[in-house]
Amino acid sequence: MVSYSLNTIQKIVHSIDKAPGLPQALNHLVTGIHQAAGVDVCSIYLTDTANRTNILMATYGLNPEAVGKVVLPFEEGLVGLVTEMSEPVNISDAPAHPRFKYVPEAGEDPFKSFLGVPVTRQGEQLAVLVVQQTTSRRFGEQEIAFLTTLAALIAGNIAIAKARGLIDDYFSAETGGGGLFAGVAGAPGIVIGQGLVNYRKNHIAEIPDRPAEDVAEEEAHLRAAIDAVVKESKSVGEQLGGSLPQTDQLLFNAYALIAGSDQLVGETVARIRAGNWAPGALRETIESFAARFESLEDPYMRERAGDIRDIGQRILGYMLKDDQKASEYPDQAILIGENLSPLDLGRVPIEKLAAVISGHGSAYSHLAILAHALNIPAVLGLAGRVPLNRLDGRTLIVDGYKGHIIVSPSKEELNEYRRLIRSEAQLAHELSALKDLPAVTTDGVRIHLLTNTGLMTSHAHAFDVGTEGIGLYRTEVPFMNRDNFPGEEEQRHIYRQVIETYMPKPVTLRTLDAGGDKVLPYLNRKEPNPFLGWRGIRVTLDHPELLLTQVRAMLRASEGYDKLKILLPMISNIDELDRAMSLIRRAYDHVINDGYEIRFPEIGAMIEVPSAVYLIDAICKRVDFLSIGTNDLIQYLLAIDRNNEQVARLFDPLHPPVLEALRLIVEAGRRHGRHVSVCGEAAGDPELAILFAAMRVDSLSVSAGDLPRVKCVIRALSWERADELWREARTMEHAVEIRHLLEGELERLGLSRLVGHGK
Ligand code: PEP
Ligand code: MG
Repeated sequence: MVSYSLNTIQKIVHSIDKAPGLPQALNHLVTGIHQAAGVDVCSIYLTDTANRTNILMATYGLNPEAVGKVVLPFEEGLVGLVTEMSEPVNISDAPAHPRFKYVPEAGEDPFKSFLGVPVTRQGEQLAVLVVQQTTSRRFGEQEIAFLTTLAALIAGNIAIAKARGLIDDYFSAETGGGGLFAGVAGAPGIVIGQGLVNYRKNHIAEIPDRPAEDVAEEEAHLRAAIDAVVKESKSVGEQLGGSLPQTDQLLFNAYALIAGSDQLVGETVARIRAGNWAPGALRETIESFAARFESLEDPYMRERAGDIRDIGQRILGYMLKDDQKASEYPDQAILIGENLSPLDLGRVPIEKLAAVISGHGSAYSHLAILAHALNIPAVLGLAGRVPLNRLDGRTLIVDGYKGHIIVSPSKEELNEYRRLIRSEAQLAHELSALKDLPAVTTDGVRIHLLTNTGLMTSHAHAFDVGTEGIGLYRTEVPFMNRDNFPGEEEQRHIYRQVIETYMPKPVTLRTLDAGGDKVLPYLNRKEPNPFLGWRGIRVTLDHPELLLTQVRAMLRASEGYDKLKILLPMISNIDELDRAMSLIRRAYDHVINDGYEIRFPEIGAMIEVPSAVYLIDAICKRVDFLSIGTNDLIQYLLAIDRNNEQVARLFDPLHPPVLEALRLIVEAGRRHGRHVSVCGEAAGDPELAILFAAMRVDSLSVSAGDLPRVKCVIRALSWERADELWREARTMEHAVEIRHLLEGELERLGLSRLVGHGK
């Protein structure tokens, strides 16, 4: 029966989602479409952009022998026409069409009508879906809508299934072969290391695949865990027997029966024998069982998928009870997770953590900022491109400049990347000569270079690169790794340690900026739009006791030191600023009454919400300094979620309105005699340093790893030349033109090596 309902679409998507490999996924797809739409033929051609061809990869209705053999160049046939047009091609008499190409091995002769729809993801064509019919007719609107909706929905699945197919090839290949997967550049650097998938033992869906080292042992492990669950279910059923209705008693029996069923044991054992370790094999079996239940019409039976997962979780619990491996880490561990949070980085001993890969996020996520501060590369936004849970134990290259990873690299790739790592080290060595020199232009404009810290980072690295102090200390982390707020004394101790480490250099402590992607489980509730929600100063003004405690701790920590600066995040109106200032005064009076002798600190406002740009004069009248948070300012100005990899490529500090906002802020700061600092990630971009110098920003606060490059640019440049470029940039309408202008200047200065890796 023909059905274009959402339910049908979801079922098809689900079936390909759960397929074990690419061929199965594509077969589910074409069969599903054939059944739903009642068409005679449904085929899918995967697009090979590099070779400009579409390859028949699965078909219902054409000659199955043709799969993998029909390779159509972009210029040929109606499938090529779909690629060329980038939209559906609907033809009632295909053989009569001038672009029709007769492919004898496909067996297309009897089919007249043709509808081809491109499958596209982020502007890139991944495949072409084709349906054909013997009768000559144009396909209707409903059919086109059905196929285009399906094409949009399956794009992610196709991408991942394609990637999975490639990775499987690398698993079996003897020499590897460089599967390159592009994500989003999160933090710079290059590393060759070993994948370590982050998983929670109580989440079966997160369990990675790993090679089974000893098949017999893995099998025994599985059987013992299953026996334990069968026994447990039976004995709980018996214990509760008297107090439960008979139907509920049956449930425990059912659990025992399913857990010990030949099918569950048999399928899992088969997967172990095929090479997966027991927990990975169990995950696969449970997923496929649950998918079978979920595809049933009867809602009661569909619900049983949850029971299956529950049983799987219990078996897994027994299996991982004494898992020794969980605490073994490779020396160059590349931590991998679908959605890693800054906290997850704490799961690997810091000296072994070499790089980070996450399914979600962009360069401006706090995960990336943390990686950057730790000086390790990060590639994010790989969800839907790589089956991340297959990367455990694999040799990987992480290229944090280009934002890609290479799975099981070839010898040539390893050699090439080793060369790049050496040239990186060489550049770092050359730049280390600048450590004790000031960042000053050739005509005498001085810009102070400080570092951002607070997120688990070691201060030693900041001193190694010659930091002039802390321009931004994010205080969130001590609040994050726990179940309740840290007390005043505990906070004082943390801040005091920081101050003592940096004395007599200036230290800027920012008050708590919880919310957004820094969720405190005991404080923040789930919000539909956390970045537009209860965040930063909004939280601490709603809880004045929090702000008072924190500021008192900061002030007490500054005893005997007169360079403390306090910074207020997310100021969006003057009322917030006035209320925060009055709370700071109250906290100050309190500590003075307690007998402390402390200078009133300089107070600054983060300029990171667009409204603050338009309130800049009123803000300047109230504060001692401004700190521009470009991460949030760009996010809010351009309406681009800083965490969302889908829009990461649009996040551009060189977008002319962003530069205009920066100009307004810096000029206002100068008019009012206020110190202006930039502390977002853009401050660490060597090209942007040219414009910040031209604007005469007083200081830049950057990740320690970025400091030497930024200093190198500033020292190579005259302010006069920077100003000339800035004037020229202001006549431009596109970020890309400005990028070219700045790249050209770095090239002229012989400093191209500072951006990207020394290729
Ligand atoms: C910013 O928004 O640019 C900033 C520095 O603060 P955070 O990244 O912590 O939001
Ligand atoms: Mg911010």
